[in-house]
Amino acid sequence: MNFVESEERLALRKAVSDLGKRYGHDYYVKVAREGGHTTELWQEAGKLGYLGVNVPEEYGGGGGGIGDLAAVCEELSAAGCPLLMMVVSPAICATIIARFGTDGQKQQWLPKFADGTVTMAFGITEPDAGSNSHKITTTARRDGGDWVLSGQKVFISGVDGADAVLIVGRTEDAKTGKLKPALFIVPTDAPGFTYQKIDMDMVSPDRQFTLFFDDVRLPAEALVGSEDAALAQLFAGLNPERIMAASFATGIGRLALGKGVDYAKTRSVWGAPIGAHQGLSHPLADAHINIELARLMTQKAAALYDSGNDMAAGEAANMAKYAAGEAAAKAADQALQVHGGNGMASEYGLGALVLAARVGRIAPVSREMILNFVAQHSLGLPKSY
Ligand SMILES: Cc1cc2nc3c(=O)[nH]c(=O)nc-3n(C[C@H](O)[C@H](O)[C@H](O)COP(=O)(O)OP(=O)(O)OC[C@H]3O[C@@H](n4cnc5c(N)ncnc54)[C@H](O)[C@@H]3O)c2cc1C
Repeated sequence: MNFVESEERLALRKAVSDLGKRYGHDYYVKVAREGGHTTELWQEAGKLGYLGVNVPEEYGGGGGGIGDLAAVCEELSAAGCPLLMMVVSPAICATIIARFGTDGQKQQWLPKFADGTVTMAFGITEPDAGSNSHKITTTARRDGGDWVLSGQKVFISGVDGADAVLIVGRTEDAKTGKLKPALFIVPTDAPGFTYQKIDMDMVSPDRQFTLFFDDVRLPAEALVGSEDAALAQLFAGLNPERIMAASFATGIGRLALGKGVDYAKTRSVWGAPIGAHQGLSHPLADAHINIELARLMTQKAAALYDSGNDMAAGEAANMAKYAAGEAAAKAADQALQVHGGNGMASEYGLGALVLAARVGRIAPVSREMILNFVAQHSLGLPKSY
């Protein structure tokens, strides 16, 4: 057991952190408020190989694991640039295609995931199904050699800048007529596919959309992997998603905590820095401990996933995501509190961080659904729903 990351991983963190700091939180917030995208940062990170550290070497990637990609995501977040599409495009989509895609899909997509020249969004959430993804109704039916896709998705991130969306839909079982999950790559310019921006209070360049599929015709090769093993394939992508969401959150937690600590060291209203008062220093210390605990669990989940232990990784990834979401939300809240009135002023960026951190309690899977998972699967308690 080794609690110290390898020299390569630490060097990767340092290099990514330097890149993120060159752009910084002010850049990120400005771009988001102006309705833009962090394209230049994404492209630079892609060129340097950071977005493809987990893509197999034979396709031009770094040949590393999800632990490496999570380190990239965390360092960019901590440097002020939380890139939500990292959680989706290289983590879920590239992982699923690398593990289960056809040779053609791998040739087409993986080299571009490796250098960040494509992004792929991911759509599972539906308005009427919500957390209960067994209830999704977006369906693909066969029509000759093609598929015809109909349905709706909601809260899908980054569709406006994406080349395609990996859609979790359903197909009809030829024998039983029952609907079973299946994964499809849908180009964003496919006829019959439209999307609409959702107005969000978050300050983020990665926006959310409602998607509409109105008889979207897809070729046979749009299906990813096997029609009969979609659940296992899906989970192969959702564990990395949770590990990445945890890293995204711990990065935001570190960023917020850093702002809180800096302010507590410099602001003085009773003749000593306000950080001298334990009413402020203890919650900051508590936030630091919780972020470190969440990082440790995230690294455990990534190590389990990268060792091929999908089952154990599932539990650890859920716990890491939960711990990180809680740690980030509490750290951001405390950082805002330390700033007093300035915590509410746009200049300090704490309000935007509080909401960004808060996402970790809701997406990609809510804290309540993780508590349900742990209660049932880790503790063997009965299911209540
Ligand atoms: C910023 C952002 C980005 C997102 N990006 C994507 C994306 O790219 N792709 C995608 O597919 N989705 C995306 N989502 C959707 C996200 O995954 C869902 O919002 C999330 O899974 C919760 O689903 P819901 O919003 O339908 O809430 P609901 O399922 O309606 O739940 C509402 C509340 O009820 C609670 N609840 C529900 N069932 C239970 C239960 N059995 N026991 C206890 N409590 C329960 C939930 O925890 C939650 O607090 C995004 C969401 C956000 C906010």
